[in-house]
Amino acid sequence: MTGSLRSDTQETVLRGTPVVPGVGYGPVIRPGRRPDVPIDTSVIDDTARGAELERFRTAASTVSTRLRGRAELATGAASEVLSANAAMAQDRGWIRAAEKLIAAGSPASSATDAATEQFTAMFEKVGGLMAERVTDLRDIRDRVIAEILGVPEPGVPVPAVPSVLFADDLAPADTAGLDATLVVGLATSLGGPTSHTAIIARQLGIACIVAVAGLDDIAEGTPALVDGGTGLIVLQPDTTSAVEQVAAAKAELDRVSQWSGPGATADGHAVDILANVQDGAGARAARNSAADGIGLFRTELCFLDRDTEPTVDEQAEIYGQVLEAFEGHKVVVRTLDAGSDKPLRFANHADEANPALGIRGIRIAEQDRGILYRQLDGIAAAAKATGSSPWVMAPMIATAAEAAAFAADVRERGLKPGVMIEVPAAALLAEHILEHVDFLSIGTNDLAQYTMAADRMSSQLAALTDPWQPAVLALVAHTAKAGAAAGKPVGVCGEAAADPLLACVLVGLGITSLSAASAAIAHVGAKLSTVTLDQCKEAAGAALRTDSSTAARAAVGAILN
Ligand code: PEP
Ligand code: MG
Repeated sequence: MTGSLRSDTQETVLRGTPVVPGVGYGPVIRPGRRPDVPIDTSVIDDTARGAELERFRTAASTVSTRLRGRAELATGAASEVLSANAAMAQDRGWIRAAEKLIAAGSPASSATDAATEQFTAMFEKVGGLMAERVTDLRDIRDRVIAEILGVPEPGVPVPAVPSVLFADDLAPADTAGLDATLVVGLATSLGGPTSHTAIIARQLGIACIVAVAGLDDIAEGTPALVDGGTGLIVLQPDTTSAVEQVAAAKAELDRVSQWSGPGATADGHAVDILANVQDGAGARAARNSAADGIGLFRTELCFLDRDTEPTVDEQAEIYGQVLEAFEGHKVVVRTLDAGSDKPLRFANHADEANPALGIRGIRIAEQDRGILYRQLDGIAAAAKATGSSPWVMAPMIATAAEAAAFAADVRERGLKPGVMIEVPAAALLAEHILEHVDFLSIGTNDLAQYTMAADRMSSQLAALTDPWQPAVLALVAHTAKAGAAAGKPVGVCGEAAADPLLACVLVGLGITSLSAASAAIAHVGAKLSTVTLDQCKEAAGAALRTDSSTAARAAVGAILN
């Protein structure tokens, strides 16, 4: 639920979706103005077009080099995002589109703008993750135009005192360059929990809230307290109380970072706490957390930029890196979840009217079984080469027949089969699906999307896709019960597992493992270690009896906090 309200003390409180816990307090700052794109309909003289082309090429290459330089100074996700943006400023399709316009007489700045609009329209049509790249490409456009016009680079100012940054949305290049000692809180009116802003803020440890209504009206310089744990922003708070809240949050973060596993409740009920990764580098980074293993390896993310299918050997090499990083530990590899917000050029086909309900996940294999076979061969080869026994699961399973066919293909290669529960139909018939597979893993991001009929990428619908929705929790409960009856493990690997309080509820519902981004693992493990299994069960029962996500949070908070 987003919006603003007045508290008893006349402080104004804004509400958004919490994405990175922590509390930051300081005056509001805002990103610098983007350059105005000159509306220039003049036609460049034939003889000057060569020079105009050169101005564009030099500007695009300067922006790319500058971003690459910043990528080298940054680490982890921030560095990856900056490198991807540096590459985008040199994208051949985009450059060619602008060059074509300049060759036809368009001035360099207008051509940059028009070429960008061509591409953003295409990204928006595809939707999902591609639509998120619109912010990235528009940011590149603004930087290139600023360079062409010789005006300062747009972006976030460096404040003189610790401040909180409010923006519509931030370009990844801006978020990645933030200094966490000076920007102590971040709030955006757009974006979702899986946006680049959220991912980088998590890595930098900056308290962050997205999808905040009413942010635009707040003037620069207004003192504000940003609580990334609750999703609340208090404007003009009482200074003493604000300083105390910041200190308390810092002490809590210090305490949490001491947690080193293994996952268990205060009374010793063991729960595997695992990491979500997307490649070998992510898996190696996860080794530095207290993760017991990998609960979700999103293999499709390794191939987003590929035109052609990777060979079995190439796949084996990539998967082997992840298996090697967690040698001797549990690793759950997910087969390609291509389609919808993560289209793969070699696996997905042309336009679909409704890609989230279209051919994605295991449905790709219904069209072309060979893609699945070659991937399973790659996983089996990686397992053999590293001497490991990975678990392998399929995304977007809707029927028991799909689960049965997948399990047979996995077993044939000596691997352990499971499926993701992301479609309400699969949750409701979990007991039948469990007749065929050895484990289940609930993807709460998609389960919430399909249960609530609300696009998970939409910031306006963030309250509906909240995994605290009691209807989503009821499906989790049903699935966990089926797992317990069959004596088979049921994990959660969606964002719900990264929320410490909700993680305790999941355990109370009977979930046996929790898999989350590395940065969330200590928060989840530390919280779980302070509560008993009975308290988790009591909290789960209370959440299930509510009729809204807000009521569920409140009921659980009263028991576990
Ligand atoms: C999910 O849907 O919860 C999940 C873990 O899969 P993804 O986020 O990759 O769709
Ligand atoms: Mg999913």
